This record gives sequence, C-alpha cells and structure tokens, in this order.
Amino acid sequence: MSELTAIRGMNDILPSETPSWQYVERAVENVLASYGYAEIRMPLVEKTALFQRSIGAVTDIVEKEMYSFDDRNGDSMTLRPEGTAGCVRAAIQRGLLGSPQRLWYAGPMFRYERPQKGRQRQFHQIGVESFGVPTPDMDTELILLCDRLWQRLGIADSVSLQLNSIGNLPSREAYRDALVCYLEKRLDQLDEDSRRRLDSNPLRILDSKNKATQALLCEAPRLADYLDDDARSHFSRLCDLLDAVGVSYTVNERLVRGLDYYNKTVFEWVTDQLGAQGAVCAGGRYDGLVLQLGGKAVPAVGFAMGMERLVLLLQEHGSVQERPEADIYVVSAGSEAQREALVATQALRVAFPDLCIQQHVGGGSLKSQMKKADKSGASLALIWGEDEVADNSVSVKFLRENAVGQARQINVATNRLEKTVRSFYAS
Ligand code: ATP
Ligand code: MG
Repeated sequence: MSELTAIRGMNDILPSETPSWQYVERAVENVLASYGYAEIRMPLVEKTALFQRSIGAVTDIVEKEMYSFDDRNGDSMTLRPEGTAGCVRAAIQRGLLGSPQRLWYAGPMFRYERPQKGRQRQFHQIGVESFGVPTPDMDTELILLCDRLWQRLGIADSVSLQLNSIGNLPSREAYRDALVCYLEKRLDQLDEDSRRRLDSNPLRILDSKNKATQALLCEAPRLADYLDDDARSHFSRLCDLLDAVGVSYTVNERLVRGLDYYNKTVFEWVTDQLGAQGAVCAGGRYDGLVLQLGGKAVPAVGFAMGMERLVLLLQEHGSVQERPEADIYVVSAGSEAQREALVATQALRVAFPDLCIQQHVGGGSLKSQMKKADKSGASLALIWGEDEVADNSVSVKFLRENAVGQARQINVATNRLEKTVRSFYAS
C-alpha cells in the first residue's frame, strides 16, 4: 500500500511557520480595515463554467491548471484557481455592487502547476476587489494600500512596482493583429511555446522568458501605440497620482498578465529575492467582467497577493518576532496542590487574557516539571507544593533575568498573586 502522505504541492503549514502567516494576515487585515475594506468569504468550489467564462478558455489556468471534477450529479465543478471570479459571482448574486464597494477575501487557491519554492498546487492568496468606480483614483488607492502594507511588513525595500496599461478590447484586438503579423514573418525565431500562443493567445508572448523571443519583441509593434485616448489619460492620471504620493514604479510595456479579463491598468509587485517566483502581488482593472458574468455594467479593479511568497520574503528579513511557548508555566506536586493551582490559574487567565499561561499536565516530579517550565521559554513559573497548600501561598520563580539582572524566587499569598504578576509585567 502506498504511504498516506500529503499530495504533491499541497503543504502543511507547520506550527513553526504559522507565526509568520499570522503576522502577515494580521497586518493585511489591519491595513485593509484602515482603508475601509470589508471581508467576504466565498466557497472553495464553483461551477467550472464560471472560470472558463472569466479567466478565459485559452489561458494557462483554464487550459492546464484547474482541478475540475464532476460531482455525483454529473455537474462540472472546479476548485477555485483564483478569487476574482467567485467574488464577482457573489457580488452579482448578492447585490454587492455599490459604488464604491470595497471587498477582500483570503484563502486557499488550487492550480495544477509544477511545485517549487514559492509555487504550490494549493497556495494562498489575499485578494482585494473594488466595484463601481471607473476612475484612476481607485486604481491609485489599491496600489497605495499595497505600498502601505509593504511598509508595515518591513519589506518595502524588497519589492518594486511594475505598471502598464493594456487599454480596451478594440485596442488590444488591433494590436493583436499587428503583433501576429509581425511575428508570423519571423516564425523561425520564435520559441515553441510562443508559436503555440500565436494562434491562441498572442499577447501572452510578450510575457515570454525566452531570450531569443524577447530580443525579437524589441522591434515588435508596441501595445502603447494602440491605446485610445481614454486609456491613455486614465494611465497618465494614475502615474501622476502615484508620483504625487512618491510611490515609485516602472512602466513595463510587456506586462500583460495571464488572465483574460483585464483592461486598462495592470500591475505587479515583484521581488528579485525569490528566484523565478518573482511576483508577490498582481492585479489590474477589469471593467467588463461583471457584465460578462451576467451583472450590470459595473467597472472594477482588484489584485491578489501570494501568501507563500510574502511569508518567504518576511522570513528572509527575519522581521517576525518569535513568541515563547508560554509566558507563565504552572507546576504542582500532589493532588491537592494541583487543585489549588488549577483554581488560581483559571483566575489568572481571566485577569490576563493576553498572556499564554500553561498549566503543566501529565504529572511527574517537580524537578521534571520545572525543566519543562524552563524549556517553554516562560518568564515566570508558579509553583504549588505541600508547603504552599498548607499556608495558602504560591512560589513565584522568575525564570529569566529581569531588569534587575537577577533570577530569583519569592513566596506570595495566593490572594496577592494577581498583583505580583501585574507588577512583574508592568516593570
Ligand atoms: P506566476 O506568474 O508566478 O505564475 P500568476 O500570474 O499566475 O503568477 P496570479 O494569478 O496573478 O499569478 O496570482 C496572484 C499572485 O498569487 C501571484 O503574484 C503570486 O504571488 C501568487 N501565486 C500565483 N500562483 C501561485 C502558486 N502556484 N503558488 C504560490 N503562489 C502563487
Ligand atoms: Mg501562474
């Protein structure tokens, strides 16, 4: 029988890693709340047609990365590969298309990709979507929100912003024809992947990492030359506003993004510190998608960031402080002492809801319990033995050197314990 291990590309996030995850999640939640975004939670599974109709049938995701299956009724379902489609579906269905409607969500996404550092089959995104506002001030807000978050996480120096405008559909269609015409004359110089895309999704060729193809593209027609006035002025206003607040960016004319639904603004926050997996956050405007999925013509813009990559970046910077397993460790010898300790500990938990108080479990000698106390990283050990039970007291051992520089032990009356603990943490 084969071993029952986790599925390739689907990782356990271990207790040693969850502090970094929680650190990022809390920071994101705080920043989003401070910008007035509300959380929405969508199902992990949606009808396959939702993704086909939004992401685009000839994209990498839909062509080869989706986990799709028929349910018992024979209907095709898909584990969500991204959050925008489900969020738009929910916004249409539940009437959340106010102007502006600011939403965010977080959770696992599923794509059948080749697993490597920063690339999993189950990965996690935090996504932000805004509905109802067609003007570039909205695009600006989303980018500023990201920038604020990088500052908050202490990784602002590790990421940089790439920006482009891909205009509206007629512009892209005109450009597509020009690009295909140019490339068809140079087929022999195109890599295999790009040749395949020439029929299905030629704009993605701009994204090619192949050196020869990149060189070929230097002389190719430019998408920027095909934009209409509306897209042009939208983009230049966005750039103006970013300049005004001092957020730096690079205009990358080849940035096109891998999903079909974008128009006008597209952007990516990239880092050079994670090898090939350089994109930590990506998004853009998708004014046509709500209508395309059966809603009203409501403009929208959004982005998603990859949690795995953010956590990796954060770990490289060591900005997450590790907390000890416990702040206070409670030990006792004998059943009466254990009872006293339990009662006092319950009272302490009420008085100090933010402290981690661990009551020793499983018995053992006082000596072995104290070893555990020490190992836990706690600052205080509270000790109940026969003597303490006899005179209603508790021994408090200061396990770490305090400001006075002395580790020491004192005995206090049980009814003064709370005060003692409070003054310890106040000092
Ligand atoms: P990539 O070019 O790295 O494949 P993408 O363009 O497919 O990224 P998006 O669909 O825009 O990615 O998703 C937004 C973000 O989610 C990415 O910038 C990245 O940080 C993260 N992400 C995407 N796919 C994965 C994955 N398989 N594993 C981990 N993170 C991912
Ligand atoms: Mg991808």
